[in-house]
Amino acid sequence: MSKTASANGENHDNTNVSMPHYLMWFRRDLRLHDNTALAALSERANEDNALVSAIFFMTPEQWHAHDMSLTQLDHIARTLPILATSLQKHLNINLTVQVCLNFADCVNALSTLCEANKISLIMANHEYEGNEIERDERLTKQLAKNDIEFIRWHDQCILPPQSIMTNDGDSMYKVFTPFYKKWRHTLDVSTIQTHEAPAVNNKAKLKTSKSSATTINDIENLSKKTVNNYQNVLQTNGLLAHIDIDAQLDYAREAYPAGEEAACQRLDEFIATDIDDYDISRDVPSLHATSQLSAYLNIGSISPRLCYLQATKALEELHRNDGNTLRNSDNNDINRWISELAWRDFYRHVLVEKPTLIRHKAYKEETDSKIHWSYSEDDFKSWCKGETGVPLVDAAMRSLNATGFMHNRLRMVTAMFLTKDLLIDWRLGERYFMQQLIDADFASNNGGWQWSASTGTDSAPYFRIMNPFSQAKTHDTDGEFIKTWLPELKDVPASILHSEDKMRKELAKGGKFSDTDYPLPMVEHKAARQLAIAEFKK
Ligand code: FAD
Repeated sequence: MSKTASANGENHDNTNVSMPHYLMWFRRDLRLHDNTALAALSERANEDNALVSAIFFMTPEQWHAHDMSLTQLDHIARTLPILATSLQKHLNINLTVQVCLNFADCVNALSTLCEANKISLIMANHEYEGNEIERDERLTKQLAKNDIEFIRWHDQCILPPQSIMTNDGDSMYKVFTPFYKKWRHTLDVSTIQTHEAPAVNNKAKLKTSKSSATTINDIENLSKKTVNNYQNVLQTNGLLAHIDIDAQLDYAREAYPAGEEAACQRLDEFIATDIDDYDISRDVPSLHATSQLSAYLNIGSISPRLCYLQATKALEELHRNDGNTLRNSDNNDINRWISELAWRDFYRHVLVEKPTLIRHKAYKEETDSKIHWSYSEDDFKSWCKGETGVPLVDAAMRSLNATGFMHNRLRMVTAMFLTKDLLIDWRLGERYFMQQLIDADFASNNGGWQWSASTGTDSAPYFRIMNPFSQAKTHDTDGEFIKTWLPELKDVPASILHSEDKMRKELAKGGKFSDTDYPLPMVEHKAARQLAIAEFKK
């Protein structure tokens, strides 16, 4: 240990020392375990006998401009004090949380921090969205003037963007299946490792501005204050008028306990039992049979590599125990889940390959000028509120509004309904999802929307349009999901909820629905489908 550090590694006045000072900048990687930048920084700091501190910037104005959902901001805010506690306890690192309005402020704040604390190296993990890339490039240039290094690591994917290319080696796959084959093969023939950060020898305390917090208590208070302010801003501009936002937050707080430990526990439980039967039950919304890890993956409370490694371990167990009953799952269940993790990688790789996506351009750019999308505000509002008269679509939208989460199958059904049955521009739906989802993630959300709208990579062929009534029949056979979210339909037989014709007849004769406010389906699916096909054919 250096002469200037105290016995517990604490060093309060780090400006008077000649030791180098390194900074870990946390972004969407709020964890200790398998955090690539954190591991690299801690190792290097120990080799160089450097001081270490960590920073996280809250950028509410920027987040608002990016349509970050309140549930996601709240999830980040709940995670920060837990991260700060673990960093101190396990790695001997102090975390500072600082409020900066936007990314430009962030760049300036980092320059000031570097100067005030004599920081010579910053490490962070890559972010792949346009504004984030611009911010990092601007910072790199600014820091270089003062010989400060800024090193970024690939960490968000299991295999980094641009590592899975077509066999001629210079382009990204446009279709998922060959991408997946190559991705899987690459993983099979290589060893992927998690990176563990060692505790650092020399903890430092950052000198910062007033709008920052360094003790766990202060971090907790600042986080709560930021959430409250953000909620007030959203409520004053009316975006959330149809949502009981306090109830949505309460639900998300209970359903998603914050922090790395909670995320790892969820992964362990999922791999231990729930993954069995995943291949089939993942498509039944009422079963809650998926991992629900996306909210954690997208703020980085858990590493995707860890998810992959746990799943492959389960796969190996399966082979070792072939013939006995240790696991009820089969290859298909586990492989299917691994392929979902690959979809997450795929959409990030696509975004890096085609940065125009961030400016909301269609992947198939020609569709932007050729398809005449509708912008009917009334129709869009009915969809947002879950008042379309199509039970599965309405139940899905109301579940989103109440919980901040929507099941994958229902994301496809609601997105297809908006873009095909109502012919509304996918960008409106994409934005609404970003504003509501606790797991909102630009790459996966954009990918999912463009898949549904048939404007994206590997998208659904334009003529294959999901019928929301048949989808209900297949995936909500007894109507349980619909009835949970549309209690006004609880006495209506599933056979009626699964058929547009029967619903219309029932309503016309003043049947089961007459004593509720439930509306008639706002469009006739068959006719809407024909219109959409005609529009796309043009
Ligand atoms: P699981 O079934 O347990 O899957 C495990 C993990 O694999 C997920 O946590 C997720 O990280 C990844 N994954 C699964 N399916 C997909 C997929 N189709 N595309 C990309 N990654 C996938 N996912 C988001 O994380 N954020 C979004 O904002 C988002 N928006 C979507 C919008 C639309 C229109 C559609 C069709 C899909 C969207 N998805 C999004 C993908 C998917 O719906 C969610 O990842 C999934 O529902 C999360 O639940 P889970 O964690 O229980 O998933």
